[in-house]
Amino acid sequence: MCYREVFQTRYACGHEQPTAERKVDCNNRRCRSSSVHPSNCAVCHATCAQSFERARPIVTAVGNGLCYHCAHGVA
Ligand SMILES: [Zn+2]
Ligand SMILES: [Zn+2]
Ligand SMILES: [Zn+2]
Repeated sequence: MCYREVFQTRYACGHEQPTAERKVDCNNRRCRSSSVHPSNCAVCHATCAQSFERARPIVTAVGNGLCYHCAHGVA
């Protein structure tokens, strides 16, 4: 199944904030979210995956200091 990669920055407080995301296509015709899935699929709900997998967070950067919420005193 397709999923989203979520690129995140991790801050000193331990929190992570997403900065960008992209869809990763599984290239499976039995997955409704894939670009190779036929648009005229007959009984899609019975034969095909209907939803995305859980997003996969990827830490791409380490930020200095606290995240936005901690820096502004918002829990
Ligand atoms: Zn897929
Ligand atoms: Zn289908
Ligand atoms: Zn924080």
